[in-house]
Amino acid sequence: MINVTQTFLPPLDEYTLILNRAWQNKWITNRGELLVELEAKLAAYLEVEHFFVTTNGTLPLQIAIKALGITKEIITTPFSYVATTSSIVWENCTPVFVDIEEDTLTIDCSKMEAAITSNTEAILVTHVFGNPCDIEAITKLAKKHNLKVIYDAAHCFNVQYKGQSVFNYGDVSTVSFHSTKLFHTGEGGAMFMSDKSLFDKVYYHHNFGHHGREHFHGLGINAKASELQAAMGLAVLPYMDTIIEKRKQLVNVYEAALKKIDDIQLVKTREGATRNYSYMPVVFKDEDTLLRVKTALEKNAIVPRRYFYPSLNTLDYVHAKKAMPVSESISKRILCLPLYFELKEEEVNLILSIIIKTIQ
Ligand SMILES: *Cc1c(COP(=O)(O)O)cnc(C)c1O
Repeated sequence: MINVTQTFLPPLDEYTLILNRAWQNKWITNRGELLVELEAKLAAYLEVEHFFVTTNGTLPLQIAIKALGITKEIITTPFSYVATTSSIVWENCTPVFVDIEEDTLTIDCSKMEAAITSNTEAILVTHVFGNPCDIEAITKLAKKHNLKVIYDAAHCFNVQYKGQSVFNYGDVSTVSFHSTKLFHTGEGGAMFMSDKSLFDKVYYHHNFGHHGREHFHGLGINAKASELQAAMGLAVLPYMDTIIEKRKQLVNVYEAALKKIDDIQLVKTREGATRNYSYMPVVFKDEDTLLRVKTALEKNAIVPRRYFYPSLNTLDYVHAKKAMPVSESISKRILCLPLYFELKEEEVNLILSIIIKTIQ
């Protein structure tokens, strides 16, 4: 079977060699030496400063909302993974959706100001498939209306925007290190803060509010990463350059062929951004075409994924339902094709030939 993704697993002996250190230390969580080392290596690799690694990529969204003191309306995108919206609702805030740009699939900033009310406190938006939002427009609107900015940068490992890590933008940026993501620790994530004082506040939140063993600094939750997660990260990290290079080659093969087909739309990369080749999204002309392609691929044991689907403004726990025509239309027509380190060029060519045969 060729699945949409396949987790990169480092050589087992390399992983166990690192794990062995946790065994020697008899220390498997609560900021052990492996986590500290992983953070130091990530800081150097990504060129980031005020951040820490977490147990997944969803708790950082919830902690960010809490830490920034947001309790009312949050402007957000309907085109993302469910965690973006569910985190807002989980924190008892109201998601206010603004539709997306047809070509970049990120939030349409020209429609954002109309959605801002006296209750709006923040913007929480996704850099979709590693493609950054219009950060300048968002920064400008946030300043004008005194709003906090949280970026769900779950897909953005190694993405640079205007000469620096995309994680450096916003009050808080979050990433996921889930096993389906580009860089992974099995389950995991990280959160990046714009400055040291916000870092300190958020750091307390992620560890029960602990200030030493017997004192507490406000309300907290548990979002700590374990040594077992850190060990995986340390074993995977040395392979990242090779992984990204291989994905780039495969994406180039996909895109060279798909570009020639009139009825297929590829995602436009925002100017000033580098690509990390984390996904291979393709937008078809209508849902019927998508379904025919999906069925044809599945008959050949190839499993693409409807990602993101459905449009998040249609979730049943979202109350103020407002139509989001672009997001709803894209969600029905977008498919992520298989893309992973061990995928072979012949397999990409097979996938392409099935797609071409099906839509012509
Ligand atoms: C994967 C993902 C998350 C959630 O990350 P987890 O590590 O699985 O909790 C959040 N937002 C987006 C856009 C994602 O793709």
